[in-house]
Amino acid sequence: METTQAVKTEADIRPRSLLLDAVREKVRPCIQCGTCTASCPNTFAMDLTPRYMWRLVLMGQEEAVFESKTFILCSACYSCTLRCPRGLPLTEAIGDLKQIAARQDIPKHRGSTRFYKSFMESVRRHGRVDEMEFMSIYFMRMKNPMLPLRFSGLGMRLMKKGKISAGIPGFGKGGGPLEPIFKKVEEMEAGK
Ligand code: SF4
Ligand code: SF4
Repeated sequence: METTQAVKTEADIRPRSLLLDAVREKVRPCIQCGTCTASCPNTFAMDLTPRYMWRLVLMGQEEAVFESKTFILCSACYSCTLRCPRGLPLTEAIGDLKQIAARQDIPKHRGSTRFYKSFMESVRRHGRVDEMEFMSIYFMRMKNPMLPLRFSGLGMRLMKKGKISAGIPGFGKGGGPLEPIFKKVEEMEAGK
């Protein structure tokens, strides 16, 4: 089974500091009020508060930003975006950080970015996620034979509750109902 290979774009090869510049522009008017931190439901698991992460972005501290797991743990709930008194596009800016981590294959975030890519690949093939296929693609990408064991308990519980179906993943050929949207986004990202 072949997984979809992303087309390398300019953003994949540009220095990370330049990519971070674009994110910095989005949050430049930040006044460090802390409303984003107070609004975020995921701060309990983050190593930096959102407010502090934005401060690091503004200071150009790219190593500290990408060493942190704060942006990767964002669940895109938009609370901070809706409440930021400066009206900053914070969720979008976090999406940019996730994209940089994925495109540059930053080792610390490899598990999360491969999980996300595998999910999207299955959605692209079927128009919805096929759980068995999705996890199979993820396990193959991670190249860790012990990894499936970590998920086996959860998988069994979900099967018992009928949340996922057992069976051999189909690995459909693609061309699902969402294919035109994926293609269009690829074209836009490539600047076509
Ligand atoms: S809520 Fe907006 S202005 Fe306040 S710290 Fe967060 S990003 Fe900055
Ligand atoms: S969008 Fe992300 S960072 Fe903002 S409040 Fe929600 S989970 Fe937190």
